Amino acid sequence: MPAAAPSVLTAEALAEADGPRQRRAIAKAITLLESTRADHRAQADQLLTALLPRTGKSFRLGISGVPGVGKSTFIETLGLYLIERGHRVAVLTIDPSSTVSGGSILGDKTRMEKLSVHERAYIRPSPSSGTLGGVAEKTREAMLVCEAAGYDIVIVETVGVGQSETAVSGMTDMFVLLQLPNAGDDLQAIKKGVMELADLVVINKADIDPDAATRAQAQITSALRLFGHHGNPVHAHVVHGADAALRQWQPRVIQSSALLGTGVDAFWDTVLQFKTLQAATGKLAARREKQALAWMWERIDAGLKQAFRQHPKVRELLPKTVAQVAAGALPASTAARNLLAAQVAQAGAAQPLEEHINTTSGTGP
Ligand code: GDP
Repeated sequence: MPAAAPSVLTAEALAEADGPRQRRAIAKAITLLESTRADHRAQADQLLTALLPRTGKSFRLGISGVPGVGKSTFIETLGLYLIERGHRVAVLTIDPSSTVSGGSILGDKTRMEKLSVHERAYIRPSPSSGTLGGVAEKTREAMLVCEAAGYDIVIVETVGVGQSETAVSGMTDMFVLLQLPNAGDDLQAIKKGVMELADLVVINKADIDPDAATRAQAQITSALRLFGHHGNPVHAHVVHGADAALRQWQPRVIQSSALLGTGVDAFWDTVLQFKTLQAATGKLAARREKQALAWMWERIDAGLKQAFRQHPKVRELLPKTVAQVAAGALPASTAARNLLAAQVAQAGAAQPLEEHINTTSGTGP
């Protein structure tokens, strides 16, 4: 272990402590991961590497939906249901509103009242600053910490207002979209891209208007058939034959009332069916592999971009170049080529690129 890291942050301490001691260790580890200090980042990278063999054993569930659809009520009900069945549940959130304005759609204190105080649950609000990519990175890393601490269900929640659904779908084994009973009346309002990410759609608040919920269920079911599925194009059965089609997951639509606790059984049953099928067909492992590589490249892109912006020659040329492009005096593509060339020409003279990357990018699977 790194000499500089406090002993409470060893992988063993995280995994083997229990109760309040483990909670403190988790909180401390996540705070370290979220720190922007370069020495903290180095410690965080060492910790993540040490944790890695203990990670990956949870089921990672992404949940999204517009504000007010009932996400926190649903997660509270589901979380307590899972704890009753012997699981330990971690809930992490990605709140895109907090990264832009510092304000928060998701983060009020009354959310998940019972779950948040339960000893078998761990709830971590969204990191409150940084780009969406940065926040997603911290959340992925926090997920690894929770897995190493023995949480076997990790729920990543986000609010359906932007690209955060793509980020959450890109770090979870299954992506669930919560919808309101009137969703079917205005299918246009449901973004096609988000719908395509969904492995399961839940019509929540079915108690308010059961007829509308049933209508929405039928409409969204047929819309999903039309859209196809991300790992599962519409015409897949034609290409691979009936057997393959039978073994491919068809996104489902179910109803629930998170408030009354109905539909949670059916929900979890569907999740388990999905999990069993994905594991049997190798898709669970393939999805994680693809996610890990996409994450690596995303972080390389972010690291390169940051190193580029910090490069002395680029910093010197940037203001003038920006002004020229804005004024229409220089084509944007020429400006980009000039700046890239300036960085490459100076790369030998300035700080080596690898050093920048070491201090700006993350580590992990
Ligand atoms: P979020 O913004 O998506 O997290 O939504 P909340 O979980 O905070 O729920 C918003 C409101 O809808 C709250 O007043 C909940 O009590 C209520 N609510 C959530 N689920 C249901 C449900 O299934 N039925 C009914 N009638 N109300 C619900």
